[in-house]
Amino acid sequence: MKKRILLLLSVISHLSADFKPEKLDYSYSALEPSISKEIMELHYDKHYKGYIQKLNFGLKGHEKYLEYTLRDLLKSLPTLPVTIKKVVQDNGGGAFNHALFWKCMHPHGQRKPIGKLLKVLEKTFGSYQSFQRQFDDAAHKLFGSGWVWLCADKKKQLKIVTTANQDCPLSEGFIPLLNLDLWEHAYYLQYYNKRSDYVQAWWGVVDWREAERLYDTL
Ligand code: MN
Repeated sequence: MKKRILLLLSVISHLSADFKPEKLDYSYSALEPSISKEIMELHYDKHYKGYIQKLNFGLKGHEKYLEYTLRDLLKSLPTLPVTIKKVVQDNGGGAFNHALFWKCMHPHGQRKPIGKLLKVLEKTFGSYQSFQRQFDDAAHKLFGSGWVWLCADKKKQLKIVTTANQDCPLSEGFIPLLNLDLWEHAYYLQYYNKRSDYVQAWWGVVDWREAERLYDTL
């Protein structure tokens, strides 16, 4: 009996160490009409949760990495054992990238940066409008599936970065502040091949609060 309880406890403690999905701060339909309920449901329940399940599965036998934060795991990607590198790159990236993406949108979000981040954006890109144009341009030029990001480098300088697949700028030494998912699963059900219409609609639900919080912690 005692053995069984111990076994149960070890199973529970092992389960609780797994990576878990971040909760959405809004309902699946809250971003309509910019992003449909159907897209959000599939994106969150199937794609996002799928990355987390595959990450946890892929780390079996390498439990010490379950104690890392996703951020630290992706930062240390270049030095990870070769047996888990790919699963962390693809599914750890998928887990982290989406968790940030959910936070960069809100039905009642702060649609423009204010304060310190706005000043640095204006200094770097000329104006907020010019930043948006360059971000849109990067989104337009990205070939295939991937992401466009606003990142800070180690000197707190801002940079627009694009990554392929689920690659995360953390693994390249950048600090992600804001990101936009450009995989077809993020827009195709609603926008079909019109990626730029999706990007324009996304600006209507963007929320800068997380980007500002992250920039303030640098
Ligand atoms: Mn996605």
